[in-house]
Amino acid sequence: MPVADYTTYCHMLDRARAGKFAYPAVNVTSMTTANAVLKGLSESRSDGIIQVSTGGGAFASGTAVKDMALGAISIAEHVHRVAARYPIHVALHTDHCQPDKLKTFVLPLVEETERRRAAGLPNLFSSHMFDGSSLPLRENLDIAVGLRERFAKSELLLEIEVGAVGGEEDGVRATGAAKLYTTPEDTLEVARRMNAAGNAPYLLAATFGNVHGVYKPGSVKLKPSILKDCQDAVVKAAGESARFYFVFHGGSGSELHDIHEALDYGVVKMNVDTDMQYAFTRAIADHCFKKYDGVMRVDGEVGDKKAYDPRTYLAAAEQSMADRVKRAAAELRSAGTALALVKT
Ligand SMILES: [Zn+2]
Repeated sequence: MPVADYTTYCHMLDRARAGKFAYPAVNVTSMTTANAVLKGLSESRSDGIIQVSTGGGAFASGTAVKDMALGAISIAEHVHRVAARYPIHVALHTDHCQPDKLKTFVLPLVEETERRRAAGLPNLFSSHMFDGSSLPLRENLDIAVGLRERFAKSELLLEIEVGAVGGEEDGVRATGAAKLYTTPEDTLEVARRMNAAGNAPYLLAATFGNVHGVYKPGSVKLKPSILKDCQDAVVKAAGESARFYFVFHGGSGSELHDIHEALDYGVVKMNVDTDMQYAFTRAIADHCFKKYDGVMRVDGEVGDKKAYDPRTYLAAAEQSMADRVKRAAAELRSAGTALALVKT
């Protein structure tokens, strides 16, 4: 199916919230990892979200170029071309963009979409995240409101973050003073400012103890009930139309009962990066250890071309990551819900 347009994306988010499931939002950094997501989602009959981080974009542009926007465009163009061959919908999203990176990441991508729309072409990305969680709430929302107004003209959706997800992602580490738990008061202010600036859905990463990156199960105290408190407060204050579409960041390694509780309270998108990185690399390590004397030219031997052809282990890595995407779709209850299945 083609990459989800605005109407389809909004429909996807509504279906997820009403059906208490969430889309896997998987970080990709290459054609192979993007293909893995499309394959895993298709085998799950799940729609989903493919996302690119600032670091992922820089990597995709080549280590000699390191242009985060250029690499993100390249990945997005690849996905636009191949997505039509898969029986599911994906939206294209960009992950965390801190205030100091707007000018070199999100804004050039928005300009690219604006150019494409002026030429009668589809949007490049479907949505972008602005992460102003390091700023005081008011400054965070001042920037978010400006983006929301600009995005509306191009049918782009905005994701924002209040509070701060702990841990480290893409080389950016949350500070020790970070607010790991969002308050209903904060989210009421988010709703007030965002709803005054437009009608389109927006995605909100509210924090409830989540941590980016690697940690052992049990070391993180997730409190999904915070999400319920925020939903109850906003619906009471501003009505059902103000109900949030939540995003779960830093979910790798979370306990399943916490994930399911979060889905019950309106999480519609769950970012999965670390576990995907591991699934990909695990398959390559397995290949190299098992076929050591084929991958390497040992003791004057010539190795085995079949073993060191990068396609061999990258295909295994693609399948391993696709399998991890399938597990995510099952855990997030999105498996079997693809729009294309219900459309007549
Ligand atoms: Zn995140």
